[in-house]
Amino acid sequence: MSLALPKVTGLRCVLCSAVYAHGEVEYTCPRCGIEGILDVELDHDFIARTFGKSALAANRDLSLWRYRALLPVPDDAALLPPPRLQVGFTPVVESPALAKELGLGAFFVKDDGRNPTASFKDRASSVIVLRAKWLGRNEITCSSTGNAASSLAGFAAEAGMKAFIFVPASAPEAKVAQLLVYGAKVFLVEGPYEDAFRVCQAAVEEFGWYNRNCAINPYLVEGKKTCGLEIAEQMQGSLPDVVTVALGDGCTTAGIWKGLVEMKTHGVIDRLPRLLAVQAEGAAPLAKTFARGDERIDPVEATTLADSINVGSPRNGIKALRAVRASGGAIVTARDEAILAWIPRLARATGVFAEPTGVAALAGLEAALEKGLVARGERVLHVATGNGLKDTRGAMRSVGPPTRIPPNLDAVRRTLEKR
Ligand SMILES: *Cc1c(COP(=O)(O)O)cnc(C)c1O
Ligand SMILES: [Zn+2]
Repeated sequence: MSLALPKVTGLRCVLCSAVYAHGEVEYTCPRCGIEGILDVELDHDFIARTFGKSALAANRDLSLWRYRALLPVPDDAALLPPPRLQVGFTPVVESPALAKELGLGAFFVKDDGRNPTASFKDRASSVIVLRAKWLGRNEITCSSTGNAASSLAGFAAEAGMKAFIFVPASAPEAKVAQLLVYGAKVFLVEGPYEDAFRVCQAAVEEFGWYNRNCAINPYLVEGKKTCGLEIAEQMQGSLPDVVTVALGDGCTTAGIWKGLVEMKTHGVIDRLPRLLAVQAEGAAPLAKTFARGDERIDPVEATTLADSINVGSPRNGIKALRAVRASGGAIVTARDEAILAWIPRLARATGVFAEPTGVAALAGLEAALEKGLVARGERVLHVATGNGLKDTRGAMRSVGPPTRIPPNLDAVRRTLEKR
């Protein structure tokens, strides 16, 4: 199979703006080194020959592969079949009750915890595993706070690839269980995410594995942008004013924005929502940068129970900052207690049970409403990025303990009377 990809015009460095040809560089800018994150640039005139509003309307593939024309793999599914796991095109649930409580014009939640390994990260993993396969690579690695790892492990298993995974030893048990069940080679690194990243990076240099780190690999944003593509397509008649999402490394925020912009380019939508990206108060380097108005990112020692955004030195920060600023949106912070309180609140209003990070942006939304960054009456879509079963310890902290009773009806009666 040819390794040419005419839809990609080049890869542009976010720091020095140098442009590389597709295939010339796979990861970061050789001039700027590891900080030189690249952005994949597409030939939208070329893509428009097969992709657009009417092509989408006729497309019956209800997965992210309906956007294959925009993804960094060849279009021919017969030559390069996608993974068998259903990923993307996750449902959007409306909650008039929450809209009313928050004083919003409408409130929607996009339930991305319904992806095969139960998080948003499946968007990136499915695309990158197919790309790795196309490039003829059979060994793949990543470091992650947990979800990217369990996601990669799942898609590598489906593809018959060997996955080498580096996660902080503090990762929630359910995420580690996923890794082991999928048969990945797991390294629990004694230290924070930054240490897991560093060791993984050194291992890539030593062993030559394909690198699925969003901190390095520009093609992950391409997978993550499918969430933005879907929001645009699913909401085209009733586009929200604001999209809320949790912000850790920045790849997710940048991806959602890229997808929305591409759908405007292709005429599926005619305006763009603002992004409200939310960091946990204990891991908020990008909120500080945003408030200052520049692009300098000072690493912090991160501590939040929203483990998926427990990132002290975000590596896609510049991409995320540019996305939020281009959208006219904002980056705000949320306290851990406020985040926890939203787990039952979202679940009871919509039936969507999310992990702490999956509701973090809702705590931020409340703060943004108070500050006037989001106006009363606006329409908001929240991306619930991870399933609640990923972190039952966090969930249990958000609710009281269950009632224990001896096995008889009297005890049931007494308990009900006490209420
Ligand atoms: C990774 C992750 C995020 C944040 O994505 P970044 O690219 O790190 O900003 C949000 N929610 C969940 C559930 C995640 O796993
Ligand atoms: Zn550069």
